[in-house]
Amino acid sequence: MSSMADRFRELSDAVPIPRPWSLDAYVAVVAEYRKRPITLAPMDTSGLGGTGCGTGSGLWIARHDDDIIVYDRDTSPWHAQHIVLHEVGHMLLDHGQQHTGQPDAVGSDALSRLLPSISLDSVRRVLGRDAYGDDYERDAEAFADAAMLHATQPPPPNSSMRRTFFRGRRR
Ligand SMILES: [Zn+2]
Repeated sequence: MSSMADRFRELSDAVPIPRPWSLDAYVAVVAEYRKRPITLAPMDTSGLGGTGCGTGSGLWIARHDDDIIVYDRDTSPWHAQHIVLHEVGHMLLDHGQQHTGQPDAVGSDALSRLLPSISLDSVRRVLGRDAYGDDYERDAEAFADAAMLHATQPPPPNSSMRRTFFRGRRR
């Protein structure tokens, strides 16, 4: 199968995961790669009513010139990072261009309550779970899992050889 593991490997070559791990540093690298600034916005996401990503607590708000990742400020540090990485997964897997569904996963009322400081005029798209469908959600979740694993477990010294070896065996 053309697995997420392969796509993740390609993406982590193009957009290296920093060592030592730092979410802020990684988000900065992703922003540079996409040539669009990314702002992380910890919020009380209970007002989303489960329309966000994953367990309902993440959102990608695409504006004309930058992107905002909303995540639940009241969760554990591990889960907060997982939410952000899930949204980064949607970005790097290009789900923003391909999303299937409704233009906005979250109504503008909920959005202005959530982010009173942002201008709704500048918002192009709000991407939550409903905007993607199950396949993209699963892929973004798998991306976040892989990134967390990668971030917390240093590769063995001979990892490039191992990768070549296993890649060869799969064919
Ligand atoms: Zn999602």
